[in-house]
Amino acid sequence: MTDKNDKLNLWVTETHKDIVSMGFRAEETLFSKISEYQQVDVIKTAGHGGMLLNDGIVMVSERDEFVYHEMIAHVPLFTLAGPERVLIIGGGDGGTAREVLRHMTVKRVVMVEIDAVVVEACKKHLPSMSGSLDDPRLELLIEDGVKFAEKCNETFDAVLIDSTDPIGPAQPLFDKEFYENISGLLSDNGIMISQSESPFYDPEIQRSMFSNQRPFFKKVHIYTFSTLTYPGGLWSFGFASKGPCPIKDFDPGRVKDSKLETRYYNPDVHRASFALPEFIKNDLAGLIDPVPF
Ligand code: SAM
Repeated sequence: MTDKNDKLNLWVTETHKDIVSMGFRAEETLFSKISEYQQVDVIKTAGHGGMLLNDGIVMVSERDEFVYHEMIAHVPLFTLAGPERVLIIGGGDGGTAREVLRHMTVKRVVMVEIDAVVVEACKKHLPSMSGSLDDPRLELLIEDGVKFAEKCNETFDAVLIDSTDPIGPAQPLFDKEFYENISGLLSDNGIMISQSESPFYDPEIQRSMFSNQRPFFKKVHIYTFSTLTYPGGLWSFGFASKGPCPIKDFDPGRVKDSKLETRYYNPDVHRASFALPEFIKNDLAGLIDPVPF
């Protein structure tokens, strides 16, 4: 079906919990393959650039990926003084790795992505994100992050869990055993960031994942950010810390000294992202710690 300019006039829609859906006008299918784990598609959209979908769920779009990837990386890495070793679980598009590698103190990044087809698709069609995967500081492992966390004996300053929703191979990434293993891989001052879904649509997932994190971390917080391409527009990350506080231990001078140019993250956004509306505080009462503003 094409429009008057002979452009594909198809709408790709993602439905969330069978109660809401979002549509993106597609102009061209750039990649489509069924891997051992999921259907992997990259489409050229009319208004959001290149878009990666796994099993029909939007992972990243070129238009708004900078928000998610700056917030998953810079909030923990600027809370720490000179982080050097970072583990990324998932993140096959490479956007998280790109932002982590912009920190000059980072010497080693290990990225554990279960699906080689996601990496293949993004290397071919989303170079603005996957270009970082060739950085000599990065080691890319194509394996299950759950199994990696069970057997790894390296220590990391930060672990960033950039996973899909808790379905299929990603489901165990939200479990207690996995968080216990990750806690064991973190240095005494280590921080774990976990993709923690929609505060509007997924409070039950959040309650479960944060209660699973509680026993292994001194502090468990949540921070939010806005996104164009995830259901409801408000999304979140869990901030689980063995020590540092994202507010008290955050020195905005580190951001200034880094001379990092960003499009979403800045010291004010860093702090403000931990300010929570009442419904989130109520939904997660007793499971997360308030931050000391
Ligand atoms: N930003 C996206 C989101 O919030 O949904 C996630 C981006 S990234 C593409 C998610 C990646 O997690 C996928 O490529 C998927 O293959 C990977 N993944 C899922 N389960 C995994 C596991 N057990 N180990 C490693 N990677 C996994």
